[in-house]
Amino acid sequence: MSLLDEVLKANEAYVADIIKEYGEAGMPSPKTPQRHIAILTCMDTRLVDLLERTMGINRGDANVIRVAGNCITDVFSDVIRSLVVSIYELGAKEIFIVGHEDCGMEKTCPEELSKRMIDRGISPEAITMIRCEMDRWANNFCHSEQNVIKAVAQLRQNPLIPNDVKIHGLMLNPYTSKLTLLVDGNKPNTELDSMAVCTCC
Ligand SMILES: [Zn+2]
Repeated sequence: MSLLDEVLKANEAYVADIIKEYGEAGMPSPKTPQRHIAILTCMDTRLVDLLERTMGINRGDANVIRVAGNCITDVFSDVIRSLVVSIYELGAKEIFIVGHEDCGMEKTCPEELSKRMIDRGISPEAITMIRCEMDRWANNFCHSEQNVIKAVAQLRQNPLIPNDVKIHGLMLNPYTSKLTLLVDGNKPNTELDSMAVCTCC
């Protein structure tokens, strides 16, 4: 059985359970985040299902944005676009940036990544086209904790994020599930407003 078949089979069984419990209309759930929370976190497999549970976040509570290394690459990157929708259309009032220990982005090296892409048939011209941006993205990720603090500073300095949105920074241990607070968005944290976060190429 292919992976696709496995997924579709699992879905069939799950849908049957949902219909049995809730009827044909399915499980009721609000579209807007009921606790007015947006979360930016990493795509790491160890965080799947764990992150929400360890934060006490339930279905319907929050918008969750997952990208490798919970990185914010520029002032109107996809992450910012999602946050803009979460804040202005869905009512998010607090943003939690949740990095994690042992993040794969700490070891991601543009040279090695380029080599692997070329080995898989990607043209050198395509690599050249994105190389500057890839270097800027991967080389700026030095340490998971520093990356979270930098992301908080980036959001605080982003002209599209309103000042009344609280921005917190946390680290998650993917094994114990313990959260460590790095930045409490309820406090002034004004030093982050002048922190250098330039990601210019
Ligand atoms: Zn990660």
